[in-house]
Amino acid sequence: MSLPGPTRDAIVERLRTVIAPGSDKDVITLNIVRQIALDDGVARIEFELPPGAAPFQEQLRSSTAAALQHIPGLRSVSVECTIRANRATTSMPGVRHVIAVGAGKGGVGKSTIAAVLAVGLQRLGFRVGLLDADVYGPSIPKIMGMEDMTPTGDEHGRIHPPEIEGIRVMSMGFIVPPDEAIVWRGPMAQKYVKEFLDRGAWGELDFLIVDLPPGTGDIPLTLAQSIPLTGAVVVCTPQDVALLDAVKALRMYQKLAVDILGIVENMSYYLCPHCGHRDDVFSTGGAEKAARDLAVPFLGAIPLNVAIRVNGDGGAPLSNFTRTEPFVRDALESIVKALVAQVEAKSAQRSPLPQLRIS
Ligand code: ADP
Repeated sequence: MSLPGPTRDAIVERLRTVIAPGSDKDVITLNIVRQIALDDGVARIEFELPPGAAPFQEQLRSSTAAALQHIPGLRSVSVECTIRANRATTSMPGVRHVIAVGAGKGGVGKSTIAAVLAVGLQRLGFRVGLLDADVYGPSIPKIMGMEDMTPTGDEHGRIHPPEIEGIRVMSMGFIVPPDEAIVWRGPMAQKYVKEFLDRGAWGELDFLIVDLPPGTGDIPLTLAQSIPLTGAVVVCTPQDVALLDAVKALRMYQKLAVDILGIVENMSYYLCPHCGHRDDVFSTGGAEKAARDLAVPFLGAIPLNVAIRVNGDGGAPLSNFTRTEPFVRDALESIVKALVAQVEAKSAQRSPLPQLRIS
């Protein structure tokens, strides 16, 4: 009597035990199995992974092979991974996603978070650019440690943004001396930002992070309108006043039909490095509640932390991930991942994932 051959159901059941690396869900729940082919005891499993998951392919191959190896009658398993081409959500050629970082008012850490997002995304393997469009106070060159750099031009009239940590960066601050206050009206700011977008040699980018001016006045409004945005992240601090301002900023983006990718609560709490005591200096949790009330995603909370301030002033953005206390690094990484998840969810709504096909 011969043993029954393996069934597709048995394979699917075993795949339910394979947790996708970088996530806490199994590959069936995540709907990343594109095909299961079964022929005479030989199985071929094909995964389609989102762009950010490229580094996890090997891990996924081996955990899948391990999960399937004891299925009776299965003679061999091959696992293939393809990386899903991420559809561009912008009209900028070569740039897949343009993400604005805005705030209801100045001083809440908007530029700091824009730099954190750029570096965090780069660390996940994405190709990233950072455009400082905060004409009121272009602080990105300082935060990124690029104050002595300048863009270069070429014979085709292209502007080449200087690069640091693999991130291409463009800022008004490279062009206007830092002590010269930039007092422009919307159309003037718009003209410069348009030049940076149209003539900037950004190359192929997964993400262009745009640090927008704070508030809802003429300049942020004009810029938010004229940049082909995938969506916006709004940064606020927990106090009521900042939140009210943040809500105004959210409403501005919504009126312009810009997707809100999420709210970040910065300076959310302080953990004493000596005794571990937690202080909610500006109260806490307000942004999360506002996000719930407004039905927009909450990306996470960032502590008030001396290292973040020192790294910002010292132009060492990478150190926020490599030389801070683990709770700071974890908070930053989790916000970057939450942003990627939001962008992917929005892309998936525009181009649904392929359904499981069993042949
Ligand atoms: P904005 O762009 O909103 O005006 P910045 O990013 O320039 O704000 O931040 C203002 C100041 O606050 C900077 O000195 C920055 O280093 C500091 N800062 C921002 N976020 C934090 C934080 N989470 N902990 C400590 N200092 C912070």
